[in-house]
Amino acid sequence: MFGVVPKPLWERRIPPDERNRIPLALRCLLVEHDAGLVLIDTGLGNKENDKFKDIYGVENAGAGGRTRLEDALAELGHRPEDVRWVIDTHLHFDHAGGNTWRDPAGSVAPTFPNATYVVQKGELEFARRTNERTAASYLSHNFDPISFRLIDGEADVVPGIRCLPTPGHVPYHQSVLVASGGERVCFLADLVPTAAHLPLPWIMGYDLEPLVTLESKRRLYGRAEAEGWLLLFEHDAATVAGRLGRDGKGFGLVEPLRAG
Ligand SMILES: [Zn+2]
Repeated sequence: MFGVVPKPLWERRIPPDERNRIPLALRCLLVEHDAGLVLIDTGLGNKENDKFKDIYGVENAGAGGRTRLEDALAELGHRPEDVRWVIDTHLHFDHAGGNTWRDPAGSVAPTFPNATYVVQKGELEFARRTNERTAASYLSHNFDPISFRLIDGEADVVPGIRCLPTPGHVPYHQSVLVASGGERVCFLADLVPTAAHLPLPWIMGYDLEPLVTLESKRRLYGRAEAEGWLLLFEHDAATVAGRLGRDGKGFGLVEPLRAG
């Protein structure tokens, strides 16, 4: 998760277990919008086998053979059928795995049958054309059963919800900016997966184009700082969100919102 950052530095921020794994969240964002419920990313789904779950230490089982995402929606009084829009930041299995689910009869279908699923056009093409380096992250049962609405570059999905291309992790990765009541929240996704990744050079080893990630972070931080955005971390198990601040010469987090 920390690429070229030496372990003695990152293990002070997030200590690993005996198998060198760190706790990570699969945090999706639900927006209750006038146009209907908008869900940003869908977590890991329920379709992978026991070996996969053991390797990653997956804890995502929910009621009725579904996942914690459906449980969380139910806590808010929503059913999967109520979701009107799904925005995928990209199609890696830990972001788009919950796009589809395996029903008790074993067939794979969209988890949110009434939703319009949105992704960058280039990302869908990239996911369908894998190579030896990218194949392990793109599992076709997460996107082949979906008929997507494709966007190309910066675009509004509904008023106040804007997709911002933030390439580097993958070439067509996007973050999502939500504006409401004078506040702006940015769902960073894998541009800055945890608060520990806020320093510009703390870039994941998974990133296909780390120098492109660096410039995407620099560009987004300029706007986030000028406009006081609340930054939301998809993979941080301890810190949900915060605002961009200065930590010596680099960037750090102020007003952190901790996971409850
Ligand atoms: Zn990813």
